[in-house]
Amino acid sequence: MTTDALFPELAGTELGRLRERLQRLGEQPPQVLLLEGGSEAQRLALARWWACRLKCPEASAPCCACPVCRQVAAGEHLDILAYDGRISNKDDEENPGLVRAFNMDRVRELKSRLRDAPHGPGYRVVMLAGLTLARDEAANALLKSLEEPLPSTRFVLLCAQREQLLPTLVSRSLCLTLPWPDSAARDPELQPWEEALGEFLRSGRGLFERSSARNALDAALAGRILLACQKSLARVLAGREDVDDPLDMALAGLDVPARALCGRWLAEAQEALTFAVGPARILEALAARLFALRHGGV
Ligand SMILES: [Zn+2]
Repeated sequence: MTTDALFPELAGTELGRLRERLQRLGEQPPQVLLLEGGSEAQRLALARWWACRLKCPEASAPCCACPVCRQVAAGEHLDILAYDGRISNKDDEENPGLVRAFNMDRVRELKSRLRDAPHGPGYRVVMLAGLTLARDEAANALLKSLEEPLPSTRFVLLCAQREQLLPTLVSRSLCLTLPWPDSAARDPELQPWEEALGEFLRSGRGLFERSSARNALDAALAGRILLACQKSLARVLAGREDVDDPLDMALAGLDVPARALCGRWLAEAQEALTFAVGPARILEALAARLFALRHGGV
């Protein structure tokens, strides 16, 4: 059995290059690896492939055929622990699966397990998905764990974009970016907002009517709009802006220092959303700052 058969999500040359990179990193694996970009299924597959790299008895490359690799790929190996912040505590208690909720009880349990040696040879791999910017008790406990030297444990953080995570987590990680999904697969719910925001950045008009409408915007939708802005900015910074994307085109008009400022403001706006400030106000304030920036008012 080959890698492609065990991990069909990882086919393609760009992901192949990332695998080569991880292949080399496996010689001295970083304590925390952060995987962003791609689709959720691709991130999970790459995280599991990385875990195979760290567990397979074949030292130089995961064979993707032995019982260890197969167990890891299925998420069933005892040395692979997985948590997801999107699983509710109730679901976790009623129906505990291979992936557990990320809460204080689970983190406490994890910390005590980290004190023991892994079951089999090689590392223990802890995968964490669905983390947020909230600096709650569980997040603080996790940060403490990441600061401790844990010679037999390696962590993998999975997220769509690193801006979704606490900056202190990101700064402890080696970040790898999977190829971003096509802009053609753009979210239809977001499209009118992206157009309104792009138009506002050009003309100063067309956004506030939309954002001030009653119940137009909740924190989740505002967060997705901000993520779309961050993706646009990432494309602009990489010189890969999409001429059909209104936000890409609006942000491409910023000079280099302004792009850096824009990145910081987007992260601040994401953080503000976690503090129960009105999402419409956060988006409007950001748009007004960006408009001023684009038109030389800062
Ligand atoms: Zn193997």
